[in-house]
Amino acid sequence: MSSDPIINGNSTISPRSSVPSSTQPMKQRIDLMGLDRGESEALVSAWGLKPFHGRNLFKWIHKHTVLDFDAMSDLSKAVRGRLQREAQITIPRAVAEEPSADGTIKWVLQLADGQRVETVFIPEEGRSTLCVSSQVGCALECRFCATARQGFNRNLSSSEIIGQLWYAKHRLGRTPTNIVMMGMGEPLANFEAVVRAMNVMQDDFAYMLAKQRVTLSTSGIVPNIQRLAKVSDVSLAVSLHAPDNALRDQLVPINRKYPLEQLIPACRAYLRGEKRRRITWEYVMLDNVNDSDRHAKALIRLLEGTPSKVNLIPFNPFPNSGFASSPKERIDAFRMRLIRSGLVATTRKTRGDEIAAACGQLIGRVQDRSRRHISISVDGLARAR
Ligand code: SAH
Repeated sequence: MSSDPIINGNSTISPRSSVPSSTQPMKQRIDLMGLDRGESEALVSAWGLKPFHGRNLFKWIHKHTVLDFDAMSDLSKAVRGRLQREAQITIPRAVAEEPSADGTIKWVLQLADGQRVETVFIPEEGRSTLCVSSQVGCALECRFCATARQGFNRNLSSSEIIGQLWYAKHRLGRTPTNIVMMGMGEPLANFEAVVRAMNVMQDDFAYMLAKQRVTLSTSGIVPNIQRLAKVSDVSLAVSLHAPDNALRDQLVPINRKYPLEQLIPACRAYLRGEKRRRITWEYVMLDNVNDSDRHAKALIRLLEGTPSKVNLIPFNPFPNSGFASSPKERIDAFRMRLIRSGLVATTRKTRGDEIAAACGQLIGRVQDRSRRHISISVDGLARAR
């Protein structure tokens, strides 16, 4: 554990010269961390000030990771005074930092209400990836995923999502080159907050990440893939894991609601609008479940005509999962079969497994798991039943 005050300190930075609590107005402070650039400008405009102050404020927080309003030297006194009185910048608090021998770092972040989520930093040759969570737990019940076993409590706010990147940048002194929305949760079941946070990731006045460098991974919530196509240009990864409905119904039960004959066309349509290159299909390799030559053939047929990259993921074990990873030879044979058919296919390197930071191993600490049974409505909001 480091002695960094932000690692050990409060999750909210209060302005230095804030009004004593007894005289503080009852109005809740606005959390600037969760605002995109437009909202930041709108906030300042609503105060009768020029919008560019809002842009500068946004830049201070995300580009310079500065939280002290007094240090934001190009903001007018009037703006700073108003911010001191009415705003705050909430950052997640790391309660654990677990480095792995391969350089991967897992942070366990505690949120204001005591819930915990996990964020993973994965350095590689010439690039680095931050794996960001979108929900406390997950409401979907993919059979091979440890997060699913945790149940679901709530969506993360846009502040809590972008706060993970803010935190990593602050802690590491640099911005990761790539972001994958592949941590805890189903990002398309928390649509608005995730899109807002991804906009901040891509903003030139914030983290400046190009569209190919921000990837959203979904289990396949079809209406929200269609919605995403209209408002975002990020790369799309889809957790496929099976080449036919019968098997996918078992492994990724959301398939019963949005079967392959809806999922595949929605993904193809996603590629059409913007000049997006291809869909990444994630395929977890489960011993004797989905890894035979027959499955490879069916997968090739399924993806015919869709610009694709298949990312094979060796299954990462967790207690009582009931699954084992396919042996390396079978994964290689499966990959070669795909490659021979003309598909781009890679095997994902397992990173951070000894700190339980690998795909499907993130568990955080989900309080009140009873909200597991939820319905995902078309607008993407997860609601407790
Ligand atoms: N809910 C989103 C985001 C999670 S991304 C989604 O389903 O896409 C995490 C990826 O790891 C998903 O493809 C998920 O299916 C996969 N995964 C889950 N558990 C795993 C495990 N135990 N081993 C390997 N991959 C796993």
